[in-house]
Amino acid sequence: MTALSLRDLPSVDKLLRSHAAAEMIASYGRPLTLAALRRTLDEIRTQAEHLSALPSREEILQRAAEYLSVWSRPTLYPVINATGVIVHTNLGRAPLSAETLKAVQAVGQGYSNLEYDMRRGKRGSRLLHAERLLRRLTGAEAAVVVNNNASAVMLVLSALARRRRVLISRTQLVEIGGGFRVPEVMKQSGAKLVEVGTTNRVHLDDYRQAIAEQPIALVLVAHRSNFDLVGFTAEPSVEEIAAVTREAGLPLAYDLGSGALLDTALFGLRHEPTVQEALQEGADLVCFSGDKLLGGPQAGIVVGRADLVAKLKKHPLARAVRADKMALAALSATLLHYLKNEALEKVPVWRMIATAPEMLSARVQGWIAALGEGRAVEGRSAVGGGSLPGETLPTTLLALDVPHPDRFLARLRGCNPPIVGRVQDGAAVFDPRTVLPEQEGAFLVGLENALRGG
Ligand SMILES: *Cc1c(COP(=O)(O)O)cnc(C)c1O
Repeated sequence: MTALSLRDLPSVDKLLRSHAAAEMIASYGRPLTLAALRRTLDEIRTQAEHLSALPSREEILQRAAEYLSVWSRPTLYPVINATGVIVHTNLGRAPLSAETLKAVQAVGQGYSNLEYDMRRGKRGSRLLHAERLLRRLTGAEAAVVVNNNASAVMLVLSALARRRRVLISRTQLVEIGGGFRVPEVMKQSGAKLVEVGTTNRVHLDDYRQAIAEQPIALVLVAHRSNFDLVGFTAEPSVEEIAAVTREAGLPLAYDLGSGALLDTALFGLRHEPTVQEALQEGADLVCFSGDKLLGGPQAGIVVGRADLVAKLKKHPLARAVRADKMALAALSATLLHYLKNEALEKVPVWRMIATAPEMLSARVQGWIAALGEGRAVEGRSAVGGGSLPGETLPTTLLALDVPHPDRFLARLRGCNPPIVGRVQDGAAVFDPRTVLPEQEGAFLVGLENALRGG
């Protein structure tokens, strides 16, 4: 039984003449507004037999406005990271410095000399941007920047060892997360994997023997990044492996993962190998990420011997995995902070690592005063980003004793901007270390609303 006459539905044309539609067109443009009105009317037609009355004109317009709002909402937006995990891969890894953002804006909003040699007035190469800074900072002969570290490793293997054998220790056949598995990347690159040693122990003689037994193109060392080898274990140092590869005339590539330029041990953390050390220890090529401990944009960086880097630059895959202008601008600006010896103050990742414990507890006290509730409790912040597994920094957390912490956190994730916290000992907790100062106002408003909301 269809008591409703669909003929009574207003036409799109009629709806378009309304004041509300004019406002929608002003905000979203005519084609999208039309699509939203049509979608709304179609929806009413298909549901008509289940309706007791047709929606009013105002209701129809309201529904169309909701479609427009949902359709135009960005799927990628800022969030407030109160988890205390500094390099949080799911939350976008490294926040960028103000100077870095300025460089991105300057290059992104107009034209640039991305691939143009201004002096000669001719085509230039994007591969030279950031290279001089990287050479100066790491002491390497040459450098190349690509899209991310996974593609950097892929490029190294493809350019230096395709259809040839690459030696790697079984202790390093790791999965980094997000699908980066060293053995699979090696297979994809066309290199043939030669495993040496056992899962827990590998010796220098394992390397020597494998090199003596067959033709090898490259030896790869992969930093374990996200787990520890403990117990009955053994592994030669990079320096020792480098002595063997040098004697055999083989290149040694080191996938360092995080790529710190500064020493994490200065902040009570375990020492994470730096890029400079990796080169000094004898690695011919070192690959690392731009957005982990370097604190810059997503990028993959390879530094090392000029002859090997030249091969990488010439390989066709280099074109497929090249870095874009905004990443190159951001990387250069971030590297400049290191060159000027101001990374600890300017690069957010390092500023967070270096934040003094008193500062953190003072911030939490300020939050408690502003909210009129909460407790300050001891906690630990993590470096994250697949570096320093299990290593944490002491911090002070804001703890809120709410009846259902999980539900409370879910409500906070619905805020604008969303707030991401965690549960510890039955309380909802928030680490000031990763809450950016400029987000603090929104953070407190979000918490307050969620608390008042029941
Ligand atoms: C993180 C990591 C990668 C992947 O780097 P992306 O920049 O995420 O592509 C590769 N190798 C190691 C050892 C890592 O830690």
